[in-house]
Amino acid sequence: MESLFCINNEKMMAILGLEKPFQAKIIYQNLVKGIIDFNTMTSLPKALRERLSEERGSALTGRIIRKEEADSTVKLAVAFPDGDIIECVRLSDGEGRYTACLSSQVGCAMGCAFCKTGTMGLVRNLTAGEIVEQFALLSSLGERISHIVFMGMGEALANFTAALDAIKELHREDGFGISYRKMTISTCGLVPGIRKLTELDIPVRLAVSLVSADDETRSEIMKINRAYPLSMLKSSLISFQRHQDRRLTFEYCMLSGRNTSHKSAEDLAQFCKGLDVLVNLIPWNPIPELGFRAPDEREIRTFENDLKKLRINYTIRRSKGQSISGACGQLATETRSSE
Ligand code: SF4
Repeated sequence: MESLFCINNEKMMAILGLEKPFQAKIIYQNLVKGIIDFNTMTSLPKALRERLSEERGSALTGRIIRKEEADSTVKLAVAFPDGDIIECVRLSDGEGRYTACLSSQVGCAMGCAFCKTGTMGLVRNLTAGEIVEQFALLSSLGERISHIVFMGMGEALANFTAALDAIKELHREDGFGISYRKMTISTCGLVPGIRKLTELDIPVRLAVSLVSADDETRSEIMKINRAYPLSMLKSSLISFQRHQDRRLTFEYCMLSGRNTSHKSAEDLAQFCKGLDVLVNLIPWNPIPELGFRAPDEREIRTFENDLKKLRINYTIRRSKGQSISGACGQLATETRSSE
């Protein structure tokens, strides 16, 4: 079953056996409003609604098999027809702003040692339609979502074409209409992907999961650093910033005793030189099987003081949704649906 996103009107007509182009437009407009049940698309003739509902069930290929809610964070597990499952999350800032955190792959090949998704390995890339469907499913929960981060399962730049097609679809003026500037791609430092993104005239934001600005430590924790060490990463970021003129974010997952020393702060300051960057400190969310320790309050405060002294722009993110494993680095699923 094919997704109804990221296709043109003619293709939607062919997939659904529609006779009139305006019917495809009506269905698309309903999907964009978060109406994903053909039966509730009341602007379509009743007979057509019934036929589509009978033939296809939901208008989306993905279906929610689990919904968990905590601290105003909602996490959905979504199963696709082939049985693969991903997770996506709706985050709230508590002031009416909602952000969708989307997955780009089932699992991930990058194997970052602090990340639960990394333990799954790569199962497969998601299609552009499957990525957009996550946004539609999160929108169907009822709140208007204005921001998108590609920080769910997978390395978006390793699924470049599909991620870019999804971004363009999510930006469509006659669709969800999300501004490029409100979309953030997160990468573990896949330099060829950053270079490709640099060449495109699409002003999305870039977040780099940095974790350490010391090559030896970073290579131990993030395998990607062995292929693309910090010097290569930095030159790709300088070039990205020169072209896009956008502030970068460095996600700095704090691992007790590994990347929180004075020396770590100095390395970070050195790496930030020449870049317009906001460092986002994220105290690690404990995942028992991964063998790291979360920093305690004292360790966090000491590191913060070091960053202040070194005049590094930073914020600290206390992860929401920890209790439902919806926090950074905590998304992982059984890979096949048993339902
Ligand atoms: S941190 Fe990102 S890139 Fe690294 S293993 Fe996890 S999902 Fe993959």
